[in-house]
Amino acid sequence: MTIIGIPRALLYYQYYPMWKTFFEHLGAEVVTSEPTSRTTLAKGTARVVADTCLPVKVFVGHVLSLVDKCDYIFIPAIRSLKSRTYNCAKFLGLPDMTRAVVPESPPILEIEIDVNRGKRYLYQSIYGLGRHFNWNPLRVREAATAAMEAFISYRGLMSESGLTPLQAIDDITGAPRREPGEPSITSITPSATIAVIGHAYLLYDEHVNYELIHRLEQYGARVLTPEMLTEHEREAAVARLVGRAYWTYEEDVVGAGGHYLQNEVDGVIGIMAFGCGPDSLMMEILRREAGNQQTTAFMCITLEEHTSETGVITRLEAFLDMIHRRKRRRVALCV
Ligand code: SF4
Repeated sequence: MTIIGIPRALLYYQYYPMWKTFFEHLGAEVVTSEPTSRTTLAKGTARVVADTCLPVKVFVGHVLSLVDKCDYIFIPAIRSLKSRTYNCAKFLGLPDMTRAVVPESPPILEIEIDVNRGKRYLYQSIYGLGRHFNWNPLRVREAATAAMEAFISYRGLMSESGLTPLQAIDDITGAPRREPGEPSITSITPSATIAVIGHAYLLYDEHVNYELIHRLEQYGARVLTPEMLTEHEREAAVARLVGRAYWTYEEDVVGAGGHYLQNEVDGVIGIMAFGCGPDSLMMEILRREAGNQQTTAFMCITLEEHTSETGVITRLEAFLDMIHRRKRRRVALCV
């Protein structure tokens, strides 16, 4: 059986159940790399130029860890998923960049997704990927339909049941579901609701963000993330703040951040990667919105390979402390 390797990085958190369903329907076996570790990051960093963003360094490290474990590595080139929205240049050239920096990689299975080129081009791209396993267009179409259904139920699992991608993937793959962290750090008064927004590959890679979500839960916070919103809620916030999305994943950043800034959370934490052009622009929009509103606290944490764990913890504690002081002051004014 052909073994397809899927790196546990970048778009894995958004699309893994969909890709896995597609390949398995066509008779292939899917393996993923292990969660990011210090070694994964170090190996990835050694292969690319210094100013490459952290998520791409992590991605290269994951590809390296799959080199001896599969017959092909699946790396899509996603240009656009909606009309007149565009992806960051790193995603466009991901298969070519990987070939250049990991020459020992098994053959790369790639697909170009660009809805701006029309449905016919999209269908041809899907068939081009599927025919590596089955020449029959009907079989490829069935696999694509099953994959889309898997994607819809994955998104539904997150927005309707309030699961994170990691929990939803555990449910789908039959792994024991990781439960939210129990409050265990008592130095800060609990009960804040905090939204954490940003790209899924920064929010859910627990090595690069030093288990930020888990830590917030240990501090007693209820944590909300972009996937827990419906598409309509995120689109409405984008429309209010910028009119029309330009970037493919703008709804996860501006959409989710804009929605949570207006909706019953005590604070919003934006996570971005150092050197990321799209994130710098999107976080600035949210920073200004938070400044205009002056009701919901906002903090942006920038991650890179040199970010220290202590620095992240200190900022989290200071942010939570500020929120609890604000809440106490509000209560005092009401009495
Ligand atoms: S959007 Fe930013 S963080 Fe993501 S791959 Fe592009 S440059 Fe890197």
